[in-house]
Amino acid sequence: MAWGFESPLGHFPQKIDRNHGAALVIGIILIMSLNNMASKHNYALPQAAKELLGGALARHGLRGTRHRELIFGSLLARRDHPTAEEVYVRVKAMAPTISLATVYNCLETLVQCGLVRAVNHERDATRYCPNLSEHAHFHDRRTGRIYDIDLPEDVVERLKELLPEGYQTDSLELNFHGQSAAKPKETADASGTPLNFS
Ligand SMILES: [Zn+2]
Repeated sequence: MAWGFESPLGHFPQKIDRNHGAALVIGIILIMSLNNMASKHNYALPQAAKELLGGALARHGLRGTRHRELIFGSLLARRDHPTAEEVYVRVKAMAPTISLATVYNCLETLVQCGLVRAVNHERDATRYCPNLSEHAHFHDRRTGRIYDIDLPEDVVERLKELLPEGYQTDSLELNFHGQSAAKPKETADASGTPLNFS
């Protein structure tokens, strides 16, 4: 399912004079711009993500809904660890009737299905991360932004070895708190691409 703005091109009159022609051209440019803007915020899920979502929901006895797809799509489109309120603002353009409570419910469902991680830092609002690979988070105290830090497999194994004998883990939460050394523009990547700290 794709969400976008309906183009009203079909409503223009068929016969137009010169002035109306100019207005029509401006109108078309405006509509193209709007469609362009809409496509930048088009949270339609790629087929693979749709199947991933559908499979995870089905395993939990749930079904895919437009809102669940839209919210999962918004998280995948901008992997900047948004809060529920931020997700709400992003998806509202595509689903004007959606409520904040629905956004919270959908996010909770995605977390329960293992598709999204809830990230909590101190007293900050919960943030949401769709990165399913093993990773830690770096919390920049100055900007409040959160970045993914890849955790190599051997590092994860060594961390698990720290556990007392007989203890097993099924999840690992590792958070770094601090401040980025460089200016935000040099290190920040709102797309969620892991930072390289080597
Ligand atoms: Zn993350």
